Amino acid sequence: VFRACPRSTPTVLPIRDAIGCVLAADVSAIDAVPPFRNSAMDGFALNSADTGHAPVALHISGTTLAGDPPADHLVPGNAQRIMTGAPVPPGADAVCMIELTRDLGNGDVEIGVRIGAGENIREAGSDVAAGDECFAAGTVLSPAHVGVLVSVGVRSVEVFARPRVGVLSTGDELVGADDELATGKIRDSNRPTLLARLASDGFSAVDLGSAVDDAGAIAHTVEQALPQVDAVITVGGVSVGDHDFLAEALAKLGAAPLSSLQVAIRPAKPFAFGVLPAARVPVFGLPGNPVSALVSYELIVRPALRSASGHSRIDRPLVSAVVPDGLGRAADGRTHFVRVHLRGCEDGTFEARVTRGQGSHQLRSFADADGLAVVADGDGVAPGGRVGVLVLRDDALVPEGSGTWIP
Ligand code: AMP
Ligand code: MG
Repeated sequence: VFRACPRSTPTVLPIRDAIGCVLAADVSAIDAVPPFRNSAMDGFALNSADTGHAPVALHISGTTLAGDPPADHLVPGNAQRIMTGAPVPPGADAVCMIELTRDLGNGDVEIGVRIGAGENIREAGSDVAAGDECFAAGTVLSPAHVGVLVSVGVRSVEVFARPRVGVLSTGDELVGADDELATGKIRDSNRPTLLARLASDGFSAVDLGSAVDDAGAIAHTVEQALPQVDAVITVGGVSVGDHDFLAEALAKLGAAPLSSLQVAIRPAKPFAFGVLPAARVPVFGLPGNPVSALVSYELIVRPALRSASGHSRIDRPLVSAVVPDGLGRAADGRTHFVRVHLRGCEDGTFEARVTRGQGSHQLRSFADADGLAVVADGDGVAPGGRVGVLVLRDDALVPEGSGTWIP
């Protein structure tokens, strides 16, 4: 699957559209930050040599506010009132913070202590010099990166394109959220779930609607979607039942290299995959049970799409947790992914407890879960034992009951 999902094509985006994307090329600063020598404090710009025998009285030569041009050359014996971010006048080599001064009321200021050369001065380029390499290819752009890029005068960046991912649900039993629920029908919940999942993972989600259980209908819908997608997720019809048409649909479209698979995991054993030859579009066939669909997405689709978008950290974070009540299971040759609630303890450790109903149709317990415990084949984890948990929400790592870091 990974081999069949190569890096997406680099594209140039305005910075505001590139949040969460991965840089495809190094970025260099156009302008320096700070762009000019300025004060780090409200206070008085002065010659440090004048303060050798502090306290000392200096004549106030004027005031420079943030946004003003630099004042004239500061001569010895004078001090220029200055605000944070204002340009330091030439001739001054330090700023004394206002708290260490006293206005003598006669046009002079008393500097209370000896000030060292360079104190409270932010030199031009002391954060980033013009021409510096700011960020290397592979960097994931965060809000702080946006701030730096704007400051150094960069307006657009070359990033790996966000994959456009189509979602198609399949099944004769499906009705839309607004349709009447006749006996025998169920609401199509997988499609909105996966569209929401894709969007919050930073991919571009494309709703392809639903198709009936018919290989021709499924193939037709996928084919129609090809110009507007880089990958397709289908849900349902990948088991070995009489009405599981996904593999047949993929075959009709000439997909390679794989079709129907059985993955040694629970839930989400059935999985279909193929790459459509014409557009080189990978198709992920997920099982229809709502929990299986999401687990399959988490374990296979999400890592593949993250890799294609240039991420090097492609998996969910895995933490080790104590299981106070144990995690019972029977050996069946498969790795189990168990929905758990995580409790962060004050000492930085975690406890995992199984959420309610673990059937693969019971999505509510997935909605309740903070993570998926990875339980190796065997007879489970004894009470007090440890298990690795794939963390699905980062707020689950906050120690319970603390609410805030303020002691
Ligand atoms: P399938 O993988 O098509 O055999 O479906 C397995 C189970 O998941 C069946 O109970 C389906 O009714 C259910 N299912 C399939 N697709 C969806 C969907 N889009 N939304 C909710 N449930 C579904
Ligand atoms: Mg079905």
